[in-house]
Amino acid sequence: MNGVWQKAADRMRGTLGQVSYETWIGPLNFVGLENRTATVEAPNKFFRDWVYERYLDLMRQSLSVEVGEPVEVKLTFGHETGASLNGTANGVANGHSNGHGHGAGAAGKRPSAASADAPRRELHPGLAQRYTFAEFVVGSSNQFAHAAAQAVANRPGEKYNPLFIYGGVGLGKTHLATAIGHHLWAASNQRRKVLFMPAEVFMNELIGSLRRDKMGEFKDKFRRVDALILDDVQFLAGRDRTQEEFFHTFNSLHSDGHQIVLTSDKVPRDIAGLEDRLRNRFESGLIADIAPPDLETRVAIIQKKAALENLPLPSEVALYIAQNVSANVRELEGCLTRLAALASMSKSTVTTEFARQALRDLIRTHDAKPDVDTIQKVVADFFHIRLADLKSKKRTQHIAFCRQVAMYLCRKLTDSSFPAIGESFGRDHSTVIHAHNLIARRIANDSAFRFSIEKIERELKASQANAA
Ligand code: ADP
Ligand code: MG
Repeated sequence: MNGVWQKAADRMRGTLGQVSYETWIGPLNFVGLENRTATVEAPNKFFRDWVYERYLDLMRQSLSVEVGEPVEVKLTFGHETGASLNGTANGVANGHSNGHGHGAGAAGKRPSAASADAPRRELHPGLAQRYTFAEFVVGSSNQFAHAAAQAVANRPGEKYNPLFIYGGVGLGKTHLATAIGHHLWAASNQRRKVLFMPAEVFMNELIGSLRRDKMGEFKDKFRRVDALILDDVQFLAGRDRTQEEFFHTFNSLHSDGHQIVLTSDKVPRDIAGLEDRLRNRFESGLIADIAPPDLETRVAIIQKKAALENLPLPSEVALYIAQNVSANVRELEGCLTRLAALASMSKSTVTTEFARQALRDLIRTHDAKPDVDTIQKVVADFFHIRLADLKSKKRTQHIAFCRQVAMYLCRKLTDSSFPAIGESFGRDHSTVIHAHNLIARRIANDSAFRFSIEKIERELKASQANAA
């Protein structure tokens, strides 16, 4: 039976990210599964309550998927089985399930102890409650996708259909797509029918319907909705039968003027194993990308999440976390949740030193920062110019451009100030600021260019790893 827990835990790791997983799921002890009820033990009451409020739905869904039927979860702590909290599984086949837990689904069936999750009327009860526009921080990395999402939420089925949102892991695709769902539902008196579903669940339901000979019901269910949000469509790659069915679903919704929202970790043309006709459909509306957040946006996200957690967070601590964790927003959140928990357990105030201690292991594994010298060298190599030229006063167009890229990366990846960076290039700070703005603007407007810059960043990471 432990195998089931292992697999469910792996699923949770995928959804939560490594940090939250290790902090909250790893320490849980799986006691057993009996009568469709899994008993899971937390180290103490605080821990139990925390997991209960945030991860119970996810745990139920993950276990239900692995067991193959709805499973209840009983969360205990220490050996006080009497003090357990439990809830009923929200079947994965539930039409409005978001398949990712996070407060979805079982809202109405919760015991009253979880009053923090009491359904708010303006939100779709079947969607993750935290993923709203109000809780989404807009920065230069995501403002286009955000604007597109709002346009679709306000005028569904009109201009941008489908809306295709793509970007790396943990950058807010599911959050934005869910926010559209909430808005569509809340903004209409007759409560538009919104169906949010991970592509994986679409496939599972299709397989189930084929097996039970219930394809009529399946088609009805999808074609009757006002809006369909399919999350992580890259998952459809290579699944021919599912693609075929989705193609028909898509056409039927689209021709009725119903909104379709898709998310993916890649642009359609980069999804290998996607049929051409589906790719054409995906490309026929608006494609919007989400890039990794810059420092300012990371700080804003941390501050917003801290406020939502009621965690007083001095701005220098927010900056400290933002500077040291840049991988993705999910990891940022993981750090913050750990801080909040430790602060509340130890009743301490959060200072930079407290954060440094609390996040010690997480932050060191994350980013060893490159220094200015390394960046200059890697950039010179990348563009096949001499390091001496990069640092010289030469003004040929190509060399000047490489220098601007190097300056930009120094500002982005190190803690050095504009004047300090200027010094390393024998220039003054205004030249560095100018270079930084120029490159940042180009990154925002030119995705091919952005890919090149990301490639340099990966090379920098690799050179760091080799040096370590
Ligand atoms: P993805 O689907 O792209 O992998 P998610 O939408 O699941 O990423 O986002 C991961 C976590 O980061 C979520 O908890 C989400 O709320 C948070 N997040 C991502 N971007 C933002 C943002 N711009 N503002 C606030 N929270 C964000
Ligand atoms: Mg997602």
